[in-house]
Amino acid sequence: MADRFQGHDYYLMDEMLTEEQKMIRDAAREWLKAEVSPIIEDSFEDAKFPEQIVPGLASIGAFGPYIPEEYGGAGLDQISYGLIMQELERVDSGIRSTASVQSSLVMYPIWKFGSEEQRQKFLPKLASGEWIGCFGLTEPDFGSNPGGMLTNFKDMGDHYLLNGSKMWISNSPIAQVAVVWAKNEEGRIHGLLVEKGMEGFTAPEIKGKHSLRASITGELIFDNVKVPKENLLPGKSGLGGPLSCLDSARFGIAWGAIGAAMDCYDSALRYSMERIQFDKPIGAFQLTQKKLAEMITEITKAQLLTFRLGELRNEGRATTAQISMAKRNNVDMAIKIAREARQIHGGMGITNEYSIMRHMANLESVITYEGTHDIHLLITGADVTGIPAFK
Ligand SMILES: Cc1cc2nc3c(=O)[nH]c(=O)nc-3n(C[C@H](O)[C@H](O)[C@H](O)COP(=O)(O)OP(=O)(O)OC[C@H]3O[C@@H](n4cnc5c(N)ncnc54)[C@H](O)[C@@H]3O)c2cc1C
Repeated sequence: MADRFQGHDYYLMDEMLTEEQKMIRDAAREWLKAEVSPIIEDSFEDAKFPEQIVPGLASIGAFGPYIPEEYGGAGLDQISYGLIMQELERVDSGIRSTASVQSSLVMYPIWKFGSEEQRQKFLPKLASGEWIGCFGLTEPDFGSNPGGMLTNFKDMGDHYLLNGSKMWISNSPIAQVAVVWAKNEEGRIHGLLVEKGMEGFTAPEIKGKHSLRASITGELIFDNVKVPKENLLPGKSGLGGPLSCLDSARFGIAWGAIGAAMDCYDSALRYSMERIQFDKPIGAFQLTQKKLAEMITEITKAQLLTFRLGELRNEGRATTAQISMAKRNNVDMAIKIAREARQIHGGMGITNEYSIMRHMANLESVITYEGTHDIHLLITGADVTGIPAFK
């Protein structure tokens, strides 16, 4: 079915955007409508990441939007980055996930914590999509508690020896480089750049996902992998390294979830005007209007929250807890809207004629990854009371 999406801007927030920000958003929207909307249902059904869209993703600035141009990035501000993520997730959370990982979890740590040689070697190839990257933090036994990780490396004099495994890694089976977080002999966490083809390194795909099917997910397995010493990220150690990457990615997710919610609302609004029951459009019934009114209210609140967060990010003042609040609120808001939108579509809502069920299934991953819904609540709780309740 043709992509008839129209953006929703109830509080005239476009007036708060610069001409450049609007241009970037509109260019992303047009490209996605033309190139991704027509294929996304098949990609989801076939559980295949559509690799043919990678150059196009690079062309709209989806890989490293805020990475400086000297390293191949788009050199944009944080709100532009957010708007690109909104547009990507408006079409599919899996496509946004691929871009989020590449930008915030791979390019960001190389840019922030890498040596100049590492930046020059990796960033331009990642920005152009020539290389895909992945980020290995989660392990089979350490998800919400990544600090407990077992993956480790030993200093062997002229190289490091890496052992362990990572689980649930977006992009891993197709990645040329993995940013891997592992403990040294003193138990201190460092980032290592592990490249495809290194002996003892494999990245098998995880199959059978009912969610994010258009995004490829896998494991990372390290069996005595010799990692050259120049592949250690020198600029940061400790859990703060990966957590700062997550701040950047979660900010993008907060925007992305608005995109998914807008798509569901847009579809529900149109359907409620076109579908006739009891001789009236179903949008004429109070119960349908209640659903639609609540949806646009929640979307508008999320837009305001997230725009302000973008301003704070631009000024370097957004805290981890503020980002947690937006990620948690917006993903929860989007899931609830997807469920209500599905009801408005009646039986048609369960089919792939509409994007609703795909968004709903995708958002079940989004509410869990990058910090679960409950962990983000506990981050807010710890921030306002000063007492962490998660251990
Ligand atoms: C599709 C997909 C892609 C992903 N991509 C990546 C990736 O690219 N890189 C990466 O490193 N990871 C990735 N992840 C992993 C993701 O970040 C983890 O799944 C997430 O952090 C949760 O970990 P877990 O699944 O082990 O759940 P668990 O940590 O086992 O949590 C299970 C449940 O227990 C709850 N819980 C845990 N601890 C507490 C507590 N202290 N108090 C209250 N409740 C608690 C959680 O909220 C949750 O409801 C991905 C996951 C998915 C599903």
